[in-house]
Amino acid sequence: MSDPVWAIAIHGGSGPSYKDDYSDVSSSMKKILEAARRDLRKGASALDVVQEAVHELEDSGLHIAGRGSSPNTKGKWEQDAAIMDGSNRRAGAVAAIQGYKNPVDCARAVMKHSQHILLSGKGAEKFLKKRDLKTIGNPHGYYRPIISDASYDDGTHGTVGAVALDSEGRLASATSTGGLTNKPPGRISDSAQIGSGTWADERVAVSCTGQGEYFMRVNAASDVSARIRYTRSDLENATACVLEEISLLGGQGGLIAIDRLGRVAMPFNTSIMKRGFATWRDEFDVKVF
Ligand code: ASP
Repeated sequence: MSDPVWAIAIHGGSGPSYKDDYSDVSSSMKKILEAARRDLRKGASALDVVQEAVHELEDSGLHIAGRGSSPNTKGKWEQDAAIMDGSNRRAGAVAAIQGYKNPVDCARAVMKHSQHILLSGKGAEKFLKKRDLKTIGNPHGYYRPIISDASYDDGTHGTVGAVALDSEGRLASATSTGGLTNKPPGRISDSAQIGSGTWADERVAVSCTGQGEYFMRVNAASDVSARIRYTRSDLENATACVLEEISLLGGQGGLIAIDRLGRVAMPFNTSIMKRGFATWRDEFDVKVF
């Protein structure tokens, strides 16, 4: 019997390079990929694996998401996240929420317990209070912004995300972000928006990173699936075409994607995109540049 096909890819954001040595990032991402690989080999669902990987990326404090996020122009940390199960197209997302340690867990709670997909701000926080989710008492004590003095105009951004195919052929995607540095209060990213920054269906799972406004204008994540479906493109071509649309508008970023055959694509047009993948074929790699 042949080995079950599975694959996982993760990203820790794209953008300009902000330090010389990324060895801490690489070793953290390797550990996260190793855990995901172990779980996928044991038959875990793609949905659980992408949630767990993003949760760990958020906690690492090495990306502009979760612990490493920067505050908005009012000094508040507003977080966005989304998760999608490609096997049934169920999805959950949160936007501009404050006070929760793991936005991806909040997105999963919305998916599980709400008839709606995207909850934002105070309404989302009220909904989440009833769930068993970790909160942050003192944001200034918890967050350790990895970039504190950059501006939106610098194009500085960072997000974390994961896409996976499990041994039962199910695809899933999750994305979480602290958003653009120096964003105004209430600004919502593509990451939280199903179709723009996060997408999974029966043919592909996609998680984007970059200047969200461009990804929204291109509806980037679900456009990868549309291109595969309507033009019979392969994954590499479909993701390259979507990134080209973003580049033509002047936008910067990248995306990770896995298709139902376990093929992986990770194109980007920025100086760096922290990224890694592992597959059932014993492929395993983490790269920054
Ligand atoms: N897309 C995110 C946003 O616009 C940032 C990022 O991916 O780096 O907030």
